[in-house]
Amino acid sequence: MGSNNDYNSFSMNNPLDPEEFKRQGYMIVDFLADYYHNIENYSVLSQVDPGYLQKNLPSYAPFGSESIEIILQDIKRHIIPGITHWQSPNFFAFFPSSGSTAGFMGEMLSTGLNTVGFNWLSSPAATELETMVMDWLGQELRLPKEFLFTGHGGGVMLGTTCEAILATLVAARDRMLNLIGRDNIGKLVVYGSDQTHCAVQKAAHIAGFDPNNFRAIKTSRSSSFSLLPQSLLKTIQKDLHSGLVPCYLCATVGTTSTTAIDPVGALCHVAKNYGMWIHVDAAYAGSACICPEFRHLIDGVEDADSFSLNAHKWFLTNLDCCCLWVKDPNSLIKSLSTNPSYLHNNASESKQVVDYKDWQITLSRRFRALKVWLVLRSYGISNLRNFLRSHVEMAKSFEELVKLDKRFEIVVPRNLAMVCFRVIPSVAHGGDANEINRKLLDSMNESGRVYMSHAMVDGMFIIRCAIGATLTQQEHVIIAWKIVQEHANTILNKTAISA
Ligand SMILES: *Cc1c(COP(=O)(O)O)cnc(C)c1O
Repeated sequence: MGSNNDYNSFSMNNPLDPEEFKRQGYMIVDFLADYYHNIENYSVLSQVDPGYLQKNLPSYAPFGSESIEIILQDIKRHIIPGITHWQSPNFFAFFPSSGSTAGFMGEMLSTGLNTVGFNWLSSPAATELETMVMDWLGQELRLPKEFLFTGHGGGVMLGTTCEAILATLVAARDRMLNLIGRDNIGKLVVYGSDQTHCAVQKAAHIAGFDPNNFRAIKTSRSSSFSLLPQSLLKTIQKDLHSGLVPCYLCATVGTTSTTAIDPVGALCHVAKNYGMWIHVDAAYAGSACICPEFRHLIDGVEDADSFSLNAHKWFLTNLDCCCLWVKDPNSLIKSLSTNPSYLHNNASESKQVVDYKDWQITLSRRFRALKVWLVLRSYGISNLRNFLRSHVEMAKSFEELVKLDKRFEIVVPRNLAMVCFRVIPSVAHGGDANEINRKLLDSMNESGRVYMSHAMVDGMFIIRCAIGATLTQQEHVIIAWKIVQEHANTILNKTAISA
């Protein structure tokens, strides 16, 4: 741990001294390059116990300064052991976060410039680059022109999908209440499926919807957990019958549990008749739609009001960056704009500029467009497509391996680069299949050699293998399957003996 002897008078005189910045900056880049180089030496899932850090770090902030050398030592000694290595090629949990050199460089530039681009004037480049990059990306996704600035819609880069959902839900709420009267908020209903991300229910709670008016419409394994239009229609009709008012539908393309694809076109066809706001949450799968062969997953998006994806999930963009497109930016602005006198300026008053503060929950905002701009330019669409395709191919090969082992089943047909599998109940030797699968997953993850995660769908505990970490290669996927089999051998034999 550092002492006052490490006091560095140079950096203390100027916390942004260019020479010291360079020296420390190179050190951190070297540190991270070594980290990526050696990342497979670490246990993918951190194995520390709760409270481990408190035992290792002092209870008070230092009064004097400490050198970067000493701090880096503590990072290696105390922080890295508590890191779950999301950049590891053996990380298959959740949806991986695909970092990249371009994404990092963009983040570094954004952090270094450290602008606070709430309105156009506060950093014109930040706003203008964001509008341009959102149109670039929207075009590559072949979003209808109404979602682009060139077609009177537009896009915004938020932190996360949770923010995109809350922002659009508030816009939807106000649009409907303007028609039916503010005091009718208790009648508004929000629709999704039982696979819809919990962000929607949370947003409905924050936005003041009646907690009884969130519909998690049931899905089933027989339809691969996608939301059926006829189920939506029935639910809406029942609500109308009770005097309620349909307000917002979240259709998901690539659900978190199983990458289920809700049929966007058919759902819009139903929902449109009721004047609801339709949001398409493609947090994970959206990125793949820059490939012509996957674009059909969002067919029908032309009838939605908004569409979002997380560039930090599968677009080589370091956290955070959620891209949200809306057809009618004014509906966001009507709900979310603020107008304090200290922000008045001629550019805003001219109405010729975008003031992104009015498109989002927060006021201050980061220059995220730099990241996506660097990613798009450094790799180009063709490499980005191939990168996504390579993950899908690896997932295909993992799926084939699972199918060859008769102890396992694929729970739902694979979409994109995630495979859902489990030990089949009959192999559990009378044991509880969910318990066996849970044990299998825990035992794999505790080995530190791979990290996968689970989902509960239709009462089934399933194991998810999500391929998407930037460093993952075919060999990692093959080894991952071997690891699953090794742990299954041990667990299933033990069950056979004790049964
Ligand atoms: C990951 C995910 C989210 C939540 O994303 P955040 O950016 O963490 O808010 C929402 N919806 C789906 C379908 C997701 O996969």
